[in-house]
Parts: sequence; C-alpha cells; structure tokens
Amino acid sequence: MQTDFLLIGQGISGTFLSWELKKAGKSFIIIDDAQPSAASKVASGIINPITGRRMVKTWMIDELLPHAFDAYREIGAFLGIECITQTDSLDFFPTAQMRLAFLERYATDPQYLSLPADENDQMMQLNYGLGYGIISPCFLVDLQSLLPAYRTSIETSLIQEPFERSQLRIEDNSVFYKNIKADKVIFCDGKSSFDHPYFSRLPFALSKGEALIAAIPDLDRSKIYKKGISIVPWKQDLFWIGSSYEWEFENDLPTTDFRERVTAQLKELLKTPFTITDHLASLRPGTLERRPFTGWHPNQPHIGIFNGMGTKGCSLAPYFARQFVRSITNDTAILAEADIKRFTRILSR
Ligand SMILES: Cc1cc2nc3c(=O)[nH]c(=O)nc-3n(C[C@H](O)[C@H](O)[C@H](O)COP(=O)(O)OP(=O)(O)OC[C@H]3O[C@@H](n4cnc5c(N)ncnc54)[C@H](O)[C@@H]3O)c2cc1C
Repeated sequence: MQTDFLLIGQGISGTFLSWELKKAGKSFIIIDDAQPSAASKVASGIINPITGRRMVKTWMIDELLPHAFDAYREIGAFLGIECITQTDSLDFFPTAQMRLAFLERYATDPQYLSLPADENDQMMQLNYGLGYGIISPCFLVDLQSLLPAYRTSIETSLIQEPFERSQLRIEDNSVFYKNIKADKVIFCDGKSSFDHPYFSRLPFALSKGEALIAAIPDLDRSKIYKKGISIVPWKQDLFWIGSSYEWEFENDLPTTDFRERVTAQLKELLKTPFTITDHLASLRPGTLERRPFTGWHPNQPHIGIFNGMGTKGCSLAPYFARQFVRSITNDTAILAEADIKRFTRILSR
C-alpha cells in the first residue's frame, strides 16, 4: 500500500489532521488502536474563552473560537451530523473572592462575560448563595458522535491495531511500515508519544483527569454549570461531571476517591435527583509551556508530530491541523509558538 502520510492515532488531533490532508488532496492511512480511555473519548468537549481561578482569556481564543465553529460545522456537514453547539457557562461563585474576581474582570474587560438579569433564577435546580456570572459564548463539541462517525467515513484508510515501533523503517526518503510505504509519518498518538524514541525529550506534562457520567432528568440541558466541578450536557441525555487535574498518578484508572468526592459535591449542588451511570478517567497529553507540538523532527524530516493539546484539544486541534497542512502545501508557516522547531536543540541531542 502506498500513501502520502501515515498517521498514528485518531483522537481529535488525528481526526482533524487527516481531514485537512484529505481537503488538500493528500492521501493517508491511520493506525489507531481504539483505546477506550483516550483523552478525546473522555473529554467533555467544552471550548471556553475564559478559564481558571484568575479568569484568564484563553491563549489565541479570538482566532480559535471562530475557526473551531466553522471547522466543526464543516466536518459535521460532511458526516451528516451536528457536532458543535453554542452555549453559556454559568459560573457559580464558590467564594466571595471569586465573585470579586469576576466582577473586577467584568468591569475592566467584559469580553466573553455577562451578568444574569436575575441572580436567583437558577435556585429551582441548584443550591448556591453567592450568585453567578456568565461566560459566553462557549461551545460544546460532541466528540462522542464526531469521532466514531469520522472513523466510519475513513474505514478504508484506517487500520485498527497497535502501532509497532520496531516495524517502522526510514529508507530512501520514504517511510516503511509493514506493507505500507509512505512519504512521511506523523504521530498523533496522545500520551503514547511521551515515551517513544523520537519525541520523548519534548517537555510533555501529562495530567490525569476523571469524570462521572450521570442522568439528571430534571436539569435544564441548555447550559454548562460550574461550581468547583463542571456539569456539562453530554451524549444520550446524560451529563458529564468533572474534572480533576492530577500531576502525580500511578495509572489512568478511575479512583474511588474522585467518585466519592464528586458525588458529595453533586449532592450539595443539585436540588434535583441524579444517578451515576459511568466513571471515566484519562491522561491529558499536555506540555510544560501549554503550547502544542506541531511539525517535523529536526534530524528526521520524515517523522512529524501533532500532539500536546493539553486541556484544549477541541479548539487547538482544528486550528493547528489546518496550519500544519498549509505548511505542508507551502501556503503558510506553523506559528513559532506551536512549531517543534523551538525544541531543535533538545531533539538534536
Ligand atoms: C477528563 C478530561 C476532560 C477534558 N475536557 C476537555 C474539554 O472540555 N475541552 C477540550 O478542549 N479538551 C478537553 N480535554 C483534553 C482533550 O481530551 C485532549 O486535548 C485531546 O483529546 C487530545 O487529543 P489527541 O488526539 O491529541 O490524543 P488522544 O485523544 O489521546 O488520541 C490518541 C489516539 O491515538 C491512539 N493511540 C495511542 N497510542 C497508540 C498506539 N501505540 N498505536 C495505535 N494507536 C495509538 C489512541 O487509541 C487514540 O485514539 C479533556 C481531557 C480529559 C482527560
């Protein structure tokens, strides 16, 4: 089999990279082992312009947000699904300081922020005492529909099996893997890139995140609710509730501690009944300086990486996939902050 690009991994990164390659008229084969705990299968799918306790505007969000909206609409139209919806995040203030931080930010820079006309209008369904602010617009990506639908659409270009490193050879300006001959190979394999020989020196920073899935039949599904934990509308009338950010962990498995802690938080926050139906956990493929890893190995120009999406794969992957492919077709360069050229010295050692 001959192809232009061999891609390893079909999470949100491999999905958008292959989609952009296809649009540019390039052929590809994806090898993906369908790990149930891949980050893209566990993520809630939020694109939020303002994040963190300090209410910081997300990096590049003014460009990422409109790009993401168009990109998900485009791929959704191709697949015959709707995979992005606009929503608001209702941020219930857990402390008086957080309320103050929101109001100060709102007074100085109200972009993406608003205040409700009636702070008490959520009291029917939630317990809260310090009011709330609104982050708007946010977007919700339906990864649970998008990833399998896209996988089906590329069935003839996808091999479902683990990638075996020992089978990869670079010879005569080509990449050989089993019976495949490709011009280049690009790793979009999430946490797996962390420990393979080509890119393990990159400053990855994996973090573990867990989420509960629950049925909350009486909760309005048109909003995201946040008070310490986030309650996010999810597939099949369910809600996704999370998450944790752990930098030290033994494995990527769900923990009893998280389940008990978050169940208690839910009981405190919700006035309506709920039933936990599932418990998920995964490792986010993050980077120390919170910027993606995009581009070609400095000493192995046939080997590339598209990874390091951290907590923001839903917005970063569509944008930088297009940039990566446009750099391949010589239209534009990869943004220096996202290009792995910035680690040339480390990768050349
Ligand atoms: C709890 C949690 C909540 C999150 N919430 C959000 C959110 O709301 N919004 C957001 O933008 N981001 C969120 N994220 C982050 C987001 O999940 C990641 O940024 C994104 O999914 C990374 O996608 P990826 O395709 O690079 O990697 P992955 O999703 O990990 O995909 C890698 C793919 O490669 C395959 N693979 C790996 N190794 C091999 C191998 N050896 N052989 C073959 N195939 C292989 C895997 O099976 C998988 O399909 C969250 C993450 C977690 C854990």
